[in-house]
Amino acid sequence: MNIILLGPPGAGKGTQAKRLEDKHGLVQLSTGDMLRAEVKSESELGRRAKAIMEAGELVPDDLVIGIISGRIEEPDCTNGFILDGFPRTVAQAEALDEMLEAKNMGLDAVIEMKVDDQALTERIVGRYTCAECGEGYHESFKRPAKEGVCDKCGSTEFTRRKDDNADTVKSRLKAYHEQTAPILPYYDDRGMLKQVDGMADIDEVTRQIEAVLAEAKSTG
Ligand code: ADP
Ligand code: ADP
Ligand code: ZN
Repeated sequence: MNIILLGPPGAGKGTQAKRLEDKHGLVQLSTGDMLRAEVKSESELGRRAKAIMEAGELVPDDLVIGIISGRIEEPDCTNGFILDGFPRTVAQAEALDEMLEAKNMGLDAVIEMKVDDQALTERIVGRYTCAECGEGYHESFKRPAKEGVCDKCGSTEFTRRKDDNADTVKSRLKAYHEQTAPILPYYDDRGMLKQVDGMADIDEVTRQIEAVLAEAKSTG
C-alpha cells in the first residue's frame, strides 16, 4: 500500500506516518527528514538546501524529485510507503506519477489532513523530537509519560528544529497555501483525495486514517 499524507507544516503528518509504519510495516519517506540529514552531513545537496530551509521556503523541485526517485527503488519500499512532505508542488506531483508509472508502482490513497493556521503555529512552536529515535513530542499536546525521558527509547536527549519558530512558520504556511494547496485539486480530479479532520486529537486522526485505508483496500 502506497499512500501520501498531505497537509500543511505541523498538521501531524510525521506523527501519523510513524504510527502507520508500526502498524502496517510501511516505510515513512519524509523529504524533510532526508533533507535535514543532507544538511547535517554537509553534502553538496545539503549545502544547496540549507539556507532555503532556514528561510521556510521550498527547495527546488529537481532536488527533492531526485531524492525520492532513488529512495522508492530501495528494497524496503516494496511493502509499501508513506510519502510525508512530498509532493509539495504540482510539478512534483506530476514527476511522482511519471516515476511510479516507470517503476510499475501506484498510489492507493492521498490523505489530506486539514488543520487551521492558528493551530498549526501552536503545534510547530511547541514541537520537539527525541534526538535518539526521532519520536515526536509537543510541549502541550504530547508530553512523554515520564518528563524528560523518551517513551520509545528511554533517551533523555531532545532536539528542536531550527525552522520551528514563529517567523519561519509564516513563510512555511505561505509556501503551503501558494505552492502546495494546488495539488489538492490535482488529486481530487483523479478521484484519489480523501480528507481527515487534522484538528481532532492524535488517536482520533489515526482512526480516521485507518478508515480511509480500509476503504481503499476494499475498493482497490
Ligand atoms: P513540515 O512537515 O514541518 O512542513 P518538513 O520537515 O516536511 O516540514 O520540511 C522542512 C523543509 O524542508 C521545508 O520547509 C522545505 O524547505 C524543505 N522541503 C521538505 N520537503 C520538500 C519538498 N517536497 N519540496 C520542497 N521543499 C521541501
Ligand atoms: P508535520 O509532520 O505535519 O509537520 P508533526 O507530526 O510533527 O507534523 O506534528 C506537529 C506537532 O504537533 C508535534 O509536536 C506533534 O506532537 C503535535 N501533534 C501532532 N498531531 C496532533 C494532534 N492531532 N493534536 C495535537 N497535537 C498534535
Ligand atoms: Zn526516543
